Amino acid sequence: MIEVTDLVRHYPVVTGLRALFSADRHKLVRAVDGVSFRVGDGEVLGIVGESGCGKSTTAKMLAGLEAPTAGSIRINGQDASDLRDRDRKEFHREVQMVFQDPYGSINPSHDVFQVVSRPLVYQGERDRKAIRRRVLAAMDQVGLSPPDLYLGKHPHLLSGGQRQRLCIARAIILNPTFLVADEPISMLDVSIKWDIIRLLRRLVRETGLSLIYITHDLATVSTICDRLAIMYLGKIVETGPALKILTAPAHPYTKALIASIPSPVPGARREAADIKGAMPDAITPTGGCGFVDRCPVAVKRCAVSEPALTRYQGRDAACHLLAESGPAAVPIAMEA
Ligand code: SF4
Repeated sequence: MIEVTDLVRHYPVVTGLRALFSADRHKLVRAVDGVSFRVGDGEVLGIVGESGCGKSTTAKMLAGLEAPTAGSIRINGQDASDLRDRDRKEFHREVQMVFQDPYGSINPSHDVFQVVSRPLVYQGERDRKAIRRRVLAAMDQVGLSPPDLYLGKHPHLLSGGQRQRLCIARAIILNPTFLVADEPISMLDVSIKWDIIRLLRRLVRETGLSLIYITHDLATVSTICDRLAIMYLGKIVETGPALKILTAPAHPYTKALIASIPSPVPGARREAADIKGAMPDAITPTGGCGFVDRCPVAVKRCAVSEPALTRYQGRDAACHLLAESGPAAVPIAMEA
C-alpha cells in the first residue's frame, strides 16, 4: 500500500548568488501543491495531465529521486520521505522507476547483461550464477527472449521497444512492490506503444506490484489503469475509478481532456474541447480555482475561492459547481 498525503514540491524561481539581489527571491514555482492519494497492491493508478502539471515531479518524489518540500509518502507503513542511507537501499529494492526516455536512461557503454544486473550488484549481490539466473528470468518476463540473443549486445543495437523492455527488466529484477512508470510510451512508435502497455498490465497481474502510470495521453489509460488522478497546476482536480471518469467526467478540465481524445471510429467527431489558452505558470497563486482563466463555465466565486476535492457521484472532484448541488451559478460570460 502506498499512501501519499499532502505532497508538496516548491522550487525557488531564482537560485545561487542571483537570489541575493533578485526581486523574485521569495517567489516559488509550486510544481506539486498538496497532492494526496493511495494505491493498493496490484492496482494501477494513472496520473494524467498536460505538460507542466506536476505529474513528473510527483513521479520523481515517489521514486525517491526528489525530496518533497512537505507532505509524506508511506510505503507499506514506512515513511519514504525521511530515509537514512541503509533504509534508502531497502527503499530502492521496493520502489523502481521506468523513465520516459529508453535511450537516455541506459548507460550506452554497458551491454544488456550489465544494464539488467546493475540493481542486483548495487544491492550487494555477488553470486555470479544467481545474478545470471535472475537476469535471464527478468528478460524472459519482459519478452526479451531468448535472452542469450541479447545479453552481449549494446543498447544502440536494440529497437526503441526493445530498449524500453530492457529498462522494465532492470526495474523488475529486484521484485519491487511498487513501480513508477513516467510516460513510458511517449517516445515509442505507435505500433510498439500498445505492446508496452500490455506488458506493464501483465506484470501487474502476474506479480501483484502496484503501478503508478504517468501520462498526458488519456487514450491509453482505459487499457491499463484501475483508477485515475487528473492533475492541473500541481493539484489533483478529479480522481476515482478510471471507467467512471472516462465515461462520465465531472470536472470541466477532465471533460476537455477527454473531448480531445481522437475517436476510434473513423470520421466520428467528439464534442469539441471548449477551453482556451495555456496552463498559467505555477508561480503566482490565483487565490481561486487554478483553472478559472480557461474554464468555460466559471462563475464569479471561482476567481476568489479555491474549490476542495469533494465527493461527487462516485469520484472526488474539485469544482464549486459540483460541490453545490443545484447552484445558482451564473457563468462569468453571462454576468453583468
Ligand atoms: Fe471552472 Fe469554477 Fe469549477 Fe474551477 S471551480 S473548474 S473555474 S467552474
